[in-house]
Amino acid sequence: MFYGGTLGLKIAEISALLLVLSAYVFRERASGFSGSDGATSDSGALTPIAREVLESLPDPILLVESSGRVILANKAMRALVGVDIERKHVSAVLRTPAVLEAVLRTAGTGEPASFEFMLHVPVERHYQAHVSRTAQTPNLTTLLLHDLTAVKRAEEARADFIANASHELRTPLAAVSGFIDTLRGHAKDDEVAREKFLGIMSDEASRMRRLINDLLSLTRIELNEHVPPSGIVDVVGVVRDAAAALAPLAEADKVAISVEVRGTIPSVTGERDELIQLFQNLIQNAIKYGKAGGGHVWVEIGVSPTSVPGRRNTLSMVSISVRDDGEGIPREAIPRLTERFYRVDVKRSRERGGTGLGLAIVKHIVNRHQGRLQIESQQGEGSQFTVLLPAEGAKQAADAAVTELL
Ligand code: ADP
Repeated sequence: MFYGGTLGLKIAEISALLLVLSAYVFRERASGFSGSDGATSDSGALTPIAREVLESLPDPILLVESSGRVILANKAMRALVGVDIERKHVSAVLRTPAVLEAVLRTAGTGEPASFEFMLHVPVERHYQAHVSRTAQTPNLTTLLLHDLTAVKRAEEARADFIANASHELRTPLAAVSGFIDTLRGHAKDDEVAREKFLGIMSDEASRMRRLINDLLSLTRIELNEHVPPSGIVDVVGVVRDAAAALAPLAEADKVAISVEVRGTIPSVTGERDELIQLFQNLIQNAIKYGKAGGGHVWVEIGVSPTSVPGRRNTLSMVSISVRDDGEGIPREAIPRLTERFYRVDVKRSRERGGTGLGLAIVKHIVNRHQGRLQIESQQGEGSQFTVLLPAEGAKQAADAAVTELL
């Protein structure tokens, strides 16, 4: 399958490298090298150093001489087309017709080509191919591939995300539009129906507002994920504030929240607002998916020693766990919980005002704070979400450890 495509910067860079190499490749030939019988193959022009450099490049490269024989396939290319292919004709090596045709065409005409193609086995992979021929004789044709699979997957994920977000917004919007029509039509003079429908419309509008707020939060946090937070935050205060903000919701659901602090808790380097959002999302989930009526949410804050690569002694992490006594989460669902819009039970999430984005936001905030998220759950017995954040002093020690390693 072909896609229209533009040359990536990386390909341009590698092409430049090849140009430099080709100057080196042909140095011997220019200085009179012609082999023992004066009718050498073009492969004689490849110096060992050029071979070594091409061999080590991460992108697959194939060099073909004017007779169509392969004179070099680097390690990355051999992984794709198989070993023992040097000296074979290119038509016996390249199994994708479009790629073979492009190589033969460029070898014949000297016209460069670049295009995208896809391999289906053993797993689906996308590549950009760049085919060019050296201007000087002997004419060597180069096939250079650049793996676009990760880029394509990211594009697909973005498209899926937009489709999901639109779908999530469309449902409440359709409900609101439907009720507007009903209120204008046959329910025009029905006061009881009007009150009922206005209540539903208000709920649906709130749902859209929550979704838009979560989408904006997620985008903002993702944009900042590579920027380390700079504030110094008292985690105990943050957790207590998050719990206090959710007290009315807990009360309405008859859920008790307890916060237990074990020992002296050091500060962490962080963004206070983001950490409040993180703990609000976790506590809110514990309320939403906890035991219906008379449930309990336990929040425990402590210090946990954690080993760090490159250091013999351990570093302190502040550990905050949020536990509920709800139904728990099926084991196979746990790795997917932080995916955007993933829900174990879509109907239940919607009924409880969920957007499916809460844990995706949690994951990004934890990543930005160089922390860890652990999820444990026993079906029928409840769930526990634990966040580990590097303690303020520990972070400086970790930086020192890195310096030691350098
Ligand atoms: P939502 O807005 O649907 O709550 P989240 O991203 O916060 O979205 O959570 C994703 C899903 O993970 C939820 O729909 C729910 O199925 C599950 N989940 C999250 N927290 C808990 C919990 N404490 N107990 C059981 N299931 C949970």
